[in-house]
Amino acid sequence: MKSLEELTRPNIWRLKPYSSARDEYKGLSASVFLDANENPYNLPHNRYPDPMQWELKAELSKIKKVAPENIFLGNGSDEAIDLVFRAFCEPGRDNVVAIDPTYGMYQVCADVNDVEYRKVLLDEHFQFSADKLLAAADERTKLIFLCSPNNPTGNDLLRGEIEKVLNTFAGLVILDEAYNDFSDAPSFLQQLEQYPNLIVLQTFSKAWGCAAIRLGMAFASTDIISILSKIKYPYNVNQLTQKQAMEMLHKYYEIERWVKNLKEERDELVGRFSELPLTIKVFPSDANFFLARVTDAVRIYNYLVGEGIIVRNRHTVSLCGNCLRVTVGTRVENDKLMEALGKYEEKYFHS
Ligand SMILES: *Cc1c(COP(=O)(O)O)cnc(C)c1O
Repeated sequence: MKSLEELTRPNIWRLKPYSSARDEYKGLSASVFLDANENPYNLPHNRYPDPMQWELKAELSKIKKVAPENIFLGNGSDEAIDLVFRAFCEPGRDNVVAIDPTYGMYQVCADVNDVEYRKVLLDEHFQFSADKLLAAADERTKLIFLCSPNNPTGNDLLRGEIEKVLNTFAGLVILDEAYNDFSDAPSFLQQLEQYPNLIVLQTFSKAWGCAAIRLGMAFASTDIISILSKIKYPYNVNQLTQKQAMEMLHKYYEIERWVKNLKEERDELVGRFSELPLTIKVFPSDANFFLARVTDAVRIYNYLVGEGIIVRNRHTVSLCGNCLRVTVGTRVENDKLMEALGKYEEKYFHS
């Protein structure tokens, strides 16, 4: 790995961060706070939240078994994705490499930041080759994006290939584990010390059932976390979000129950979906959704919209011609989907 100084944009490396009132006085002993121009009325919403979310990180640390100093919290994973571009990629000069197809936000953030985005196509099993990915990289490649389980394909990437990239690439590897809770593959969180170039992304939006509160996590070396923390908005995670996240952490058993249930529902739904005459293939899933190739994705998508059921049409995505991405819902929701698709059969196959 190159030194972090070589990988970081010079202006960011030199940057002295904004120091907020909450940063400057961290003690707990004071009882009169006249330092932040807040309104003394309307407790508890009148006070600025902890800019570094230490209480939340301490709780999260217990569940994730990662030290608080190795955790960055942001306004969704999307904030962390944007920040790695802003921290490490010089606009108009540097580039990043990513598997294709994958989560759309990596390319959007690359485009916003005027950073070249190099795509390397997955194979027919939606797997990638470390050698092919590394061959697309050059001196100016700062980041490689991997997503496992991948979106929209739903499968885990091969662990050996991920390790090969981590061992060989001189820049930083962003491994997006948004769906890892639903997979039987272990997370790379416990490998952070082994790989100083690794940034693992996770989120409260999926398994945690908290997409509305916008809370994403990045885990990495203390040096990488310090750079991200230095350039974030001072109060990037609001107090309501921090409070709700604390409540979720205190009922972690609920999340484990949801995940177990959704994995069972997924396997059941995949089985039933595979049996439909309109289904050509259901791709194996390690996530809370699956990708399916159907006879006519656009027509089936539009039909389902008419029935009040929305799935994701991935027809125009690389390698996903005539594919729909279906999120696993409750048993009742999944039944409604299957019932509607059963009616589609009657309409279009038997007339
Ligand atoms: C849903 C999803 C996320 C979550 O993004 P948030 O901003 O945390 O809601 C991240 N990565 C992938 C691949 C996703 O599908």
